[in-house]
Amino acid sequence: MIKSNKQKRQEIKKNRQKKADKIKTNYLPKVLADHEQLRHNNTYDLLPNFYVDKPFICRDCGSSQVWTASQQKWWYEVAKGNINSTAVRCRSCRQKLRLIKENNQQKQLINKNK
Ligand SMILES: [Zn+2]
Repeated sequence: MIKSNKQKRQEIKKNRQKKADKIKTNYLPKVLADHEQLRHNNTYDLLPNFYVDKPFICRDCGSSQVWTASQQKWWYEVAKGNINSTAVRCRSCRQKLRLIKENNQQKQLINKNK
């Protein structure tokens, strides 16, 4: 069977698309998950095999953020965060929140000492 020019062009297009897809998936920064470090979750059903960058909108200021794969690995495996928990605030909003909490704690201490 002789391929028509149209078919050839379609094939080239398909191959180009394949290459583009490959680059896209390679580009996604994946970080392998260590299930040993995820044991505190007491579940084997939902454990991910790897982490990928996750875009999210900050709950407080509404800015679009990315929770990177390596940040997720740290949160779930080093900080032992629950596997169902996810980033909801950007870094500066988290810092603000922490400052408010610390201030409140100090105020409570001062009140107790009165
Ligand atoms: Zn924010």
